Amino acid sequence: MGRIALKEKGIYRFSGISGIKQLYNHVINSWRPKDAYCIVSAPLESFKKLESFFIKSVHAKRIKDRVTLKMIINGNAQQYGLVRKTMPFTQVKFLDVETPAEYGVLNDLLFIVNYGKKPYGILIKDASLADTFNEYFKILWHQGRKIDIPPLIKTSLSVKEIVHKYLAKNPLIVTDPYNYDQIKKSGYSIICIQNNNYSNVVRIQNKIKKDNHKIIIGLGGCTALDAARACSKENLPCILIPTILSTVCISVNKSVLNVGGEVKTFNTESPQKIILSVPTIMSTKRTEIIRWAQAGFGDLFSKVGASIDVVYRELEKSKDVLSLEKVRRNIPEVFDAIEYVIEYFNGYNKRDIEALAVFLHEASVSIIIRDTFELSGGAEHNLAYVLEKKYIKPGIKPEHGTIVSVGTLIETKLFGEVTGDKSLYNKMRVIYEKTGLPTTYESLAKLGVNKENLVKGIRDISKLNAFMSMHAKQAIDLLDDIFQNNGAKYEKK
Ligand SMILES: [Zn+2]
Repeated sequence: MGRIALKEKGIYRFSGISGIKQLYNHVINSWRPKDAYCIVSAPLESFKKLESFFIKSVHAKRIKDRVTLKMIINGNAQQYGLVRKTMPFTQVKFLDVETPAEYGVLNDLLFIVNYGKKPYGILIKDASLADTFNEYFKILWHQGRKIDIPPLIKTSLSVKEIVHKYLAKNPLIVTDPYNYDQIKKSGYSIICIQNNNYSNVVRIQNKIKKDNHKIIIGLGGCTALDAARACSKENLPCILIPTILSTVCISVNKSVLNVGGEVKTFNTESPQKIILSVPTIMSTKRTEIIRWAQAGFGDLFSKVGASIDVVYRELEKSKDVLSLEKVRRNIPEVFDAIEYVIEYFNGYNKRDIEALAVFLHEASVSIIIRDTFELSGGAEHNLAYVLEKKYIKPGIKPEHGTIVSVGTLIETKLFGEVTGDKSLYNKMRVIYEKTGLPTTYESLAKLGVNKENLVKGIRDISKLNAFMSMHAKQAIDLLDDIFQNNGAKYEKK
């Protein structure tokens, strides 16, 4: 399409989705190469209706013309913002606002698009209006949040081969005793930490200063990754190589550390990248792979319980109805994982482990995007903490993700009873059985938990503002239904 010039100063109206495309065609044919423009508060609806048009027509031409876009994305449209973030000539920030309309400014053009029931757009050619809204944009831009999303890179390289690539930066490897044994003879600089005490961070920082390390490589489970991440700074990036996939911690920008006996969460830089060394993970003893990955799935699925809690609390205020769709919308990546397990899971083979890594990564990334832990754990985590603290048989130490999975199953059962929609619970049973998470009193016994413990645990957390807590009595009444025998109690489809 040739260049269309809007000759006259004036106001032009465009109706419907096709009209909005026309409006954008005017915009993209009005810029000159290397121009810059801005868009604020692009709502979710616009992406749903026009995503392929935006990608194939608007952004393709924009990048060809080297036109820079600064874009502020609405709170509920993050995934689209992240797609744009990777495009050249594009800066994206995020604001927690939700509006049905968006506006943009290009030179003397101001365009406003409303994506409501009857979408329409207004294009205004007026330099003083355009300047005014451009000034407003600057204020909003200042308030927006930048999000650095680390990529997950799968590789067939070993840990040594990965570290070798960074030798020019004098890397410091932060690891745990298990992984230390595997690489201590490599000749690399290594610091081995035993626990998540904050004093380790100080130790690492001192070593970095003394030996002038330019990059940190975290290698191991959450303890090593948390410590490595906590030492990272703007000019001191960190790369993470997880060796077990047991929790949603691999790619977050937060670290959990013990400061004088108190466990605290610290905000950190986002890791630069997460490298999954597939041979390293797969060379772990098979029983260990399963034990950790099972916990990984358990921690991942616990976000279902967390999302139920978040939705439930929101609805308390709005008096709206609880629905599966609302629960799903908060955590699409976890629902993808549920479908994956139902369709493809094949007993912790290589593909299952790689898929788990991707799901845990995506779940971690969503923590970075939302900038809150709200969706990483709900009452199922609280239940797990009291079980661990007070009730689990001494000598038995179930993995974190496995013990939280107990509460998630109760929450989804309860969700089915309260809403009448039992599809989620039925799916959870299927995926628990496939992944080996506990679904019976017998399997709970192996975790050191019996019915009495559960009853006490649920009572202990009944004061929380959470879905399971608010329905504590009903939850207790449902325990037999959930855990008695082998699932004969639920309808297989
Ligand atoms: Zn957790």
